[in-house]
Amino acid sequence: MGYSIFDDTMVDMTWPKIEAAAEKGAIVLLPTGIIEEHGPHMGLAVDTYAAYIISVKAKHLLESRGIDTLIAPPQYWGVSAGTSVFPGTFSVRPETMQAVIYDILASLKSWSFNRVFIINWHADIEHCRAILAALQDARRETNVDAVCLVSEFDIRRLRLTGEEDYILKYPQPPMMGISDKYVDIHAGSMETAVMMKYFPKHVKAAMARKLPPTRVTLEDLRILGKNEEATRKLIPDGYFGNPAGYDTAAAEKMVTDDANAVADYIEAYLKLK
Ligand SMILES: [Zn+2]
Repeated sequence: MGYSIFDDTMVDMTWPKIEAAAEKGAIVLLPTGIIEEHGPHMGLAVDTYAAYIISVKAKHLLESRGIDTLIAPPQYWGVSAGTSVFPGTFSVRPETMQAVIYDILASLKSWSFNRVFIINWHADIEHCRAILAALQDARRETNVDAVCLVSEFDIRRLRLTGEEDYILKYPQPPMMGISDKYVDIHAGSMETAVMMKYFPKHVKAAMARKLPPTRVTLEDLRILGKNEEATRKLIPDGYFGNPAGYDTAAAEKMVTDDANAVADYIEAYLKLK
């Protein structure tokens, strides 16, 4: 696996191959992430790499089951209210992101790709809502059958019912650290481990091992991004969690379980149609 997020995606294909795949009824996975600061020990593209690696693994699983699958160019312009006070967090307006996702779906549909599955790795609420709004518009206006894979946890967080036709509810494996008293969800042990496992070139491992754990609760996260001074005080180094506690075997298991669940639920969804 190369470091390029274009590796194994439509980007490195020729147009006749893309046309042939559409004629065969291939489905498309669309990874979505963001370019966002991830502490002093990692580069900016962690979320994009994570959405990408899960998509690549899910694609191989689906193809082994006879389902032709392409991966759209990973969409890395995202929305981040929380960390936008740090240089390196490129945050686009929700309406910009919504328009870009809509246009990607409309492009795919215009080439006769009818089924698109969004694999998102970035939890900002406005970011997620922009994806869901784009899906609803694209489904209504272009008739594309596009859905976002959404966990039970996110269904509650986003105040969805789980019955919406623009989502595909699936059992996402528990993320390390999300149930602890102190959250470990941004550039902490889990994301550091995913990067160490799959993209080690982009982690300063010696530095990660020396970073102290933060004591940030879910409640604390509400102030993020609302006030620059308070945000910098809460997360002075831009991470919350315990980077030093990274466990690459646990990360590999989580990514593998996630890709398996994605493939299983997409396969079942296609059988229902
Ligand atoms: Zn992240």
